[in-house]
Amino acid sequence: ARFKWLVNEWGVEKIREMLEGKLGKPFEPYNGLVFLKNSNHEGIQPQSQESKCYINIPILGGRLSSEDMIYLADIAESYGSGELRLTPTQNILIPDIQNKEEAVKKLGKRNFFLNPPNLKWSSIACSSDFCGKTIKPHAKQVLRSLANYLNENYKHELLNESGIIIQVDGCPNHCCASSLAEIGLSGALAKIDGHLVQTYAIVLGGGVGPEPSLGRIIERGISSSQIKKKISILLNYYIENRKNSENFRDFCNRYSEEELKNLI
Ligand code: SF4
Repeated sequence: ARFKWLVNEWGVEKIREMLEGKLGKPFEPYNGLVFLKNSNHEGIQPQSQESKCYINIPILGGRLSSEDMIYLADIAESYGSGELRLTPTQNILIPDIQNKEEAVKKLGKRNFFLNPPNLKWSSIACSSDFCGKTIKPHAKQVLRSLANYLNENYKHELLNESGIIIQVDGCPNHCCASSLAEIGLSGALAKIDGHLVQTYAIVLGGGVGPEPSLGRIIERGISSSQIKKKISILLNYYIENRKNSENFRDFCNRYSEEELKNLI
């Protein structure tokens, strides 16, 4: 993520020249696949080998206790091939499952459920609690708090239809690309009354896909305790005013930054 600062300083052309110099030939134009979604491997999915499937377990922020890790490793050994994989959206995937009913039952016994809204599979937060650039509340805490709140207070069909994904960064290095999510939270330290506090900016309307867009910063310097209320006001407004089944990103991008700020 921090490479972007160099791109910003040098400009795209200089970066291209430098890379082509190292490669020894010019780049060819890219006409391949584009990312259509952050993830499309939620839950139980078939494998190409008949009778086998894989299970993608939503972890939300990618943090597990040692006991949970051992529990999942045991499931992988008992029902799969003993292999576990980590996904770019901070989940855990168990491949080569043959008895999915039993594996799912076992997962449920330790509260690993496969029926949350998509945002629990696709939302991510950076490792700000390890990298030392921020103070509490850290990005993963903020993500869990907001995603669980939405999960408990809004219909899952509505959340899925909205296409909302949350991406939280602890600082402007943006390791979790908060400007590429429908709801981004971009952290920054601020001095308030002589005390250093961790604040977040709300970034709305970003996302990948055939028409990618960068989110816009709507409000800065928000304390983590205000985030749920502000997002909830916005989501309620979205529910009342969206056009047909308009998703949250398109809805946000219909309004100016000023209008969105006034709403929250
Ligand atoms: S975004 Fe900032 S706080 Fe988060 S991991 Fe990257 S450098 Fe650390």
